[in-house]
Amino acid sequence: MPIRILNENISGLIAAGEVVERPASIIKELLENSIDAHATSITITIKNGGIDYIRVTDNGLGIPHDQVPLAFQRFATSKISTSSDLDAISTLGFRGEALPSIAAVSHMEMTTREPDTNYATQIILEGGIAAELKKAGAPNGTTIIVQKLFHNVPVRRKFLRSSATEASHIQTLVTRYSLAYPEIQFQLENGKKNFSTNGDGDIIGTIAKIYNVDIANQLLSISERSEGPLGEVIISGVTCPPHISRSNKQHITLFVNRRWVRDQSLSFAVEQAYQGFLMNRRHPIAIVNLQLPPDQIDVNTHPSKTEIRIRNKNHVFAALQRSIRQALTAKSPIPPMSQSKEAYSQRTERLIDYKNPFWTVEPFKSDRDRPDAGKNYVGGNDTFVGFKEKLPLLRVLGQIQSTYIVTEGPDGLYLIDQHAAHERVIFEEIRSADSSNSSGKQALMEPIIIEMTESQEEILSEHASLLESVGLLVEPFGGNSYIIRSIPKIMLEADPETTIFEILDEISLGGNIKNWRDRTYYTIACHSAIRAGKSLTHKEMELLVRSLEQCDHPHNCPHGRPTMIQLSISKLEREFGRR
Ligand code: ADP
Ligand code: MG
Repeated sequence: MPIRILNENISGLIAAGEVVERPASIIKELLENSIDAHATSITITIKNGGIDYIRVTDNGLGIPHDQVPLAFQRFATSKISTSSDLDAISTLGFRGEALPSIAAVSHMEMTTREPDTNYATQIILEGGIAAELKKAGAPNGTTIIVQKLFHNVPVRRKFLRSSATEASHIQTLVTRYSLAYPEIQFQLENGKKNFSTNGDGDIIGTIAKIYNVDIANQLLSISERSEGPLGEVIISGVTCPPHISRSNKQHITLFVNRRWVRDQSLSFAVEQAYQGFLMNRRHPIAIVNLQLPPDQIDVNTHPSKTEIRIRNKNHVFAALQRSIRQALTAKSPIPPMSQSKEAYSQRTERLIDYKNPFWTVEPFKSDRDRPDAGKNYVGGNDTFVGFKEKLPLLRVLGQIQSTYIVTEGPDGLYLIDQHAAHERVIFEEIRSADSSNSSGKQALMEPIIIEMTESQEEILSEHASLLESVGLLVEPFGGNSYIIRSIPKIMLEADPETTIFEILDEISLGGNIKNWRDRTYYTIACHSAIRAGKSLTHKEMELLVRSLEQCDHPHNCPHGRPTMIQLSISKLEREFGRR
């Protein structure tokens, strides 16, 4: 076949293929246009998962009558004009491709009216060609109706899934935009299934509609402003306390300049911040916006604009990780014994700024600016008990099942899991001993000889110095035999052979050096900590509780399990009918 230039009809269909994959991608483009047009209320109606019918109505700025046909031309946009504009994009759209692409594969109608005019303009397009243009009556703003999707691209239509699946993609999408723009009122009408937000700027209210009130009220607020080499990074949002987690990563929602982005490394930064707080295979709920100077990001990398490039990414990664870690360590609560809604939400209420519009909250410049800074919330009538960096002073009462230590604190009863608590204590001890290079090691009177596989030998030789730094000295002893000459003092009660093999296993799972170290510490802590089932003297319990009080993060063991739970006085009073 000779080479020839494709006619506009086919090239339009090809271009549309990139932007319009399914009903949700159409709604994404229409929502972005409405947001760019400063709408404060957007209503989306769908039928049959959006396959048969989509309508998006906004109360935004509208399009002037004479420019309406132009909006459906390829590369027609009001958002950028010069190539330098591409370097600092501040609108969601800029490619000038969405309207013509959607029109090319559907039957499309638009009615639009600028606030200052007394009539609206209606345009009807069939397969991308304008069939009708007339004046009409309509309220301010823009309404777009898309029907007969993919009627002229049967192959695409075949790829569509069931209407329920398509509807759930749309639901997820609208949810994301409503989180990024809590000041806009969103309504999704899908037959009997409706979703709506108030548009009052209250992110917690929006989250409550998506998850539930209880979860929304327990989330911890994040705010951080940091000055990087190339500009300012402002991070704001919410993240979950460790006792609320999910089994998959879908609940990490990230926005960059309020654009939802898919970015593995930023999600990883969030996960990393939870290291030591969450158990294996548990993932956080986090909703975070990163506000970056527009010239620090490149949005023009993919037609759907959900993948972006960030200059100076390391700085952004570190700032994100730090902000979440800070929220966690400063406010991570001791889980209450039963998550009674009222009691718990009361405690969390004031940690989150309900009144301020979410993304515009002024971040605290330092921890000292936080409203809760410097307060010690321990005390009989302080609703904040449970949120503090340090443990309250605890009086040991006794032990249950040779496993749990019963203590009394300023607000009721605190039950401590002795193994988890000791793990935390050892983990922090060994980590600080290592960093100050004064770790105590203990030579073994009778050195232990162990056999290693080839891969274990490899890992050992690669990480011998890490092991030595914590006091574990393992030397070759001919063939594949090795001799353990010394162990960390802390490990005196542990089984060195099992511990070493587990450390090698942990290391082989991969990760960065920080991880190897922490994993080594975890393993040592886990094997050295007193077991559940060991009865302790009062003195031993005292000692453990005092050491836990000294820890930086006393509320969780290094694996993320809680070290203690609390039964508050008010709960006791309620349970006994005193209140
Ligand atoms: P882009 O958003 O990349 O500019 P589109 O094809 O999505 O390209 O839209 C083309 C133009 O039509 C926009 O630049 C904007 O001026 C106008 N437009 C589209 N939708 C709306 C709307 N809902 N309200 C006001 N103007 C709109
Ligand atoms: Mg657009």
